[in-house]
Amino acid sequence: MTEDSEPRPFGLLQWRALRLKCPKCGKAPIFRGWFSMNDACAGCGRRFNREAGYLLGSIYFNYGITASLVVIMYFAMFFGNVLTDTQRLILLTSFGVLFPMWFFRYARALWIAFDELWDPWPNEEEVRRMQAERGTQR
Ligand SMILES: [Zn+2]
Repeated sequence: MTEDSEPRPFGLLQWRALRLKCPKCGKAPIFRGWFSMNDACAGCGRRFNREAGYLLGSIYFNYGITASLVVIMYFAMFFGNVLTDTQRLILLTSFGVLFPMWFFRYARALWIAFDELWDPWPNEEEVRRMQAERGTQR
């Protein structure tokens, strides 16, 4: 096991994710546009989308954070007696639609960092796959 494959501390991974950088090395950006991702890190080669369906996990982050914020804001406005029921409904519905679009990249980056903590890239299967790909190229 090389030093490069050592697990990273949770806080460092989260910090890199919040800056939308590769959680493994922190050098290269995960995204090249608002919704388009790079396939792999330009700094260390970590694949950002490890397999089909891998990035669906980011929906948990996006939904969980959005729902938590809506609940907190609702009760804060309700008990603070801010706005009418209809105004609160319109405001929080708009927030519930717009916030996840803005947070999309952060949710994916947080998901990738969370995954990097529990299953650092490359795992044994990915190493075998990369060796097999290198073998067929020769
Ligand atoms: Zn990297």
